[in-house]
Amino acid sequence: MDTQTFTTSLSPTTPLLSLVVPFYNESEVISHFFAEVIPELERVPGIRFEIVCVNDGSRDDTLSQLVAFSERDARVRVIDLTRNFGKEAALSAALDEARGDLVVPFDADLQDPPRMIAVLVDKWREGYDVVLAKRSDRATDSTLKRWTAVMFYRMHNSVSEVKIPENVGDFRLMTREVVEALKLLPETRRFMKGLFAWVGYKTTVVEYAREQRVAGDTKFSGWKLWNFALEGFTSFSTLPMRVWTYVGTAVALAAVLRAAYLIIRTWMFGVDVPGYASLAAGVFLLGGIQLIGIGVLGEYIGRIYFESKRRPIYLIRRRHQQELPHA
Ligand code: UDP
Ligand code: MG
Repeated sequence: MDTQTFTTSLSPTTPLLSLVVPFYNESEVISHFFAEVIPELERVPGIRFEIVCVNDGSRDDTLSQLVAFSERDARVRVIDLTRNFGKEAALSAALDEARGDLVVPFDADLQDPPRMIAVLVDKWREGYDVVLAKRSDRATDSTLKRWTAVMFYRMHNSVSEVKIPENVGDFRLMTREVVEALKLLPETRRFMKGLFAWVGYKTTVVEYAREQRVAGDTKFSGWKLWNFALEGFTSFSTLPMRVWTYVGTAVALAAVLRAAYLIIRTWMFGVDVPGYASLAAGVFLLGGIQLIGIGVLGEYIGRIYFESKRRPIYLIRRRHQQELPHA
C-alpha cells in the first residue's frame, strides 16, 4: 500500500487507531492476517491506523515475514522482543509502543473478526472510553475450555473486588487516556484482563461470535491456562490466603469441643480403649490442611519475590518501522 495516498487523503488531526497484535510462532497466519485486517481498517471511516506487531520471541520465520510487511507498508510497525516473554508481556509492550488515540488489542490468528473494529469505533463515537467485545458464544472452544472458563469467571468474580466481565478477552477498544492509566500500574506480573477491569472508565459492550483460528495451533495448553487462572486469582484477591485463618479457627474450635467432651467422658466413665485409627486420621487430615495452607502462602510469597526484583516486563531487541510521516 502506498503511504502517500493515506497521508494526503486524511488530515493529521484524524484520530489514529493502533491495532496492537502479539505474534508467537504465527508464521502460518501472517499473510491471512494482513490480507484481512488492512482492508477492514481502511474501510473504517474517519480514522488513520497503524498496526503494532510484537514478535514475542518466535522460533519460526514470523519476524522476517512481519519485517517484510513493514518494509512495504509504513503503517505496519514491528517490535521484536529479545525472547518469548508470554502473551501478557507482549501485549504490555504493544500498549507501550502504540501511538494511537485509540488502541485495540487483537489476536494474530483472526479469532476476533476484523469487521468488529468498525463496530467498536462506532461505539467510541457515542462517547465511551472502553468498548468491550464480548463473545456471545464459545462454540469454537472445546467443552472443557468452555466449562473451565465459566468456572474461572464465577470463582474469580466471587472472591475478587475487581469483577472481570465474562467472556471478554483482550479484544476491545480503549482511548489514549485509558492506555495511559494502564501504563501507570507498576506490577511486573501482568494479568491483563484484571488490569483492564481495574482501571475502570466509561465502558460498554458489543457482542460477537468467536471464529476458529485461521491456521496454526493455540499457544495455550491446559497447564498454561491453569497457571494463567492462578495468576488471575492471586493478583486480584487475597482471599485464598486469608481463608486459612477461618479453616484454622474452625478446626481448632472443633478440637477444643472434642477435648472437653473427652475430659467429661473420662471423668464419668473412666479411661476408654485408645482410639488409634481416629487419631491417625486426624493427624493426616490436619497435616494435609496445613500443607495446602503453606502452599497458598507460597504462591503469594512467590509473587512478592517476583515483584520485589523490579525487573522490566519485557526487553526490546529492535524496532522495525519506516519513519511515519505523521509521527
Ligand atoms: N501469543 C504470544 N506469546 C505467547 C503465546 C501467545 O504473543 O507466549 C499470542 C499469539 O501469537 C496470538 C495470541 O497471543 O496472537 C493469542 O494466542 P492463541 O491464539 O494461541 O490463544 P487462544 O486464542 O487459543 O487463547
Ligand atoms: Mg487464538
